[in-house]
Amino acid sequence: MVKPVIAIVGRPNVGKSTIFNRIVGERISIVEDIPGVTRDRIYSSAEWLNHDFNIIDTGGIDIGDEPFLEQIRQQAEIAIDEADVIIFLTNGREGVTSADEEVAKILYKAKKPVVLAVNKIDNPEMRDQIYDFYALGFGEPFPISGSHGLGLGDLLDEAAKHFPKRDTKDYEDDVICFSLIGRPNVGKSSLVNAILGEERVIVSDISGTTRDAIDSYVTYNSQKYVIIDTAGMRKKGKVYETTEKYSVLRALRAIERSDVVLVVINAEEGIIEQDKKIAGYAHEAGRAVVIVVNKWDAVEKDEKTMKEFERKIREHFLFLDYAPIVFLSAKTKKRIHTLMPMIDIASENHARRVETSVLNDVIMDAVAMNPTPTDKGKRLKIYYTTQVAVKPPTFVVFVNEPELLHFSYERFLENRIRDAFGFEGTPIKIYPRERK
Ligand code: GDP
Ligand code: GDP
Repeated sequence: MVKPVIAIVGRPNVGKSTIFNRIVGERISIVEDIPGVTRDRIYSSAEWLNHDFNIIDTGGIDIGDEPFLEQIRQQAEIAIDEADVIIFLTNGREGVTSADEEVAKILYKAKKPVVLAVNKIDNPEMRDQIYDFYALGFGEPFPISGSHGLGLGDLLDEAAKHFPKRDTKDYEDDVICFSLIGRPNVGKSSLVNAILGEERVIVSDISGTTRDAIDSYVTYNSQKYVIIDTAGMRKKGKVYETTEKYSVLRALRAIERSDVVLVVINAEEGIIEQDKKIAGYAHEAGRAVVIVVNKWDAVEKDEKTMKEFERKIREHFLFLDYAPIVFLSAKTKKRIHTLMPMIDIASENHARRVETSVLNDVIMDAVAMNPTPTDKGKRLKIYYTTQVAVKPPTFVVFVNEPELLHFSYERFLENRIRDAFGFEGTPIKIYPRERK
């Protein structure tokens, strides 16, 4: 399902990030050692009553050294491009400012619904202050208070009225959606072109359903794929296109729609911090991951080079130890043929269900081999394990006390499950649950 997207726009200090965090709620990352995932979040999924949607805090996208007004203009443009509904946020304590009017001017031109909110209305006596805001021309202003969490329900109800009616699935179940993410210039577009140009790849046209114009449809060995091309999404001439935050936003949106994410690395440059961040997003989202080392042609090699590079990747991407690594060259097409089979394996494992009885045998053997931990004289007891979901495979372990299942023992169980069933290319999740 494609979720509707809400973007919050408005000049600095009106309370965009406060509102964003309120709406998103406590969604703290469970994997703390992944850089950049929990810090300065600008894009997240959220829920309101029976609505699932995504939300963008455009205020978090800083546009380089542009002057203040230009920055907010560009943030408004991003909202127009990316969102289904725009929440235009203002500050009731300061009244309408010229910067608000600037934002309004840009939003008038948008063919997107705009809901006007007046923030910092912390108590009912302040409600009179919203009337000035009718002048902005977006109808009834919604009084809210980010710090006190007031009025957000009415605001979101109004926003939800404008959500597009999408009750179709993005694609059929048998289609594998994959995306290529990575820093600019690692060769993502070249790689898409190389895949499309491959001899056994048939470029096709999948009919119907909602779809993005820049998605490519291909068939390979009678398997259907959709390639979500983040690089191809670039719009020429937009300044914000080159900012890091914006490319992160793009990547997150592509990841969300993917079964398998190809994390593309430039072999010439090695791994840098930003690569880790990007890979972290894919892992965090629970997607299958294949690491693609591109520009392998440009590297001087001997028989040890590949092993050495692999070792470095493993060292940098500890959290992606399940991801297969493919070395190739989009330019010379060398080893391109190794990619599609890896995508298939990762996708298959991502959707894999294991038999409960076999699973419990594996867990019992694991416990026999390495006794469960104790804490303050109490020992963890594992009663039963069951797989509750796929994409990614998710397991619930019924135990006497969930707190006793420490990270290291959970990791041990994960490794035993992987040893027994494979699961190459996919993260797996394990949750303890108390059984009395
Ligand atoms: P942004 O720059 O638009 O993202 O604004 P922030 O969310 O960073 O908020 C700017 C300041 O306004 C912070 O000091 C917030 O604590 C404060 N603020 C946000 N919402 C409210 C509110 O509803 N009432 C009051 N009184 N202050 C608020
Ligand atoms: P993107 O920004 O990630 O989409 O990267 P592009 O596909 O635009 O490629 C960036 C640059 O790297 C271009 O000049 C490509 O010709 C070059 N490039 C892409 N793939 C390869 C490769 O496999 N080997 C070499 N030597 N250059 C490549």
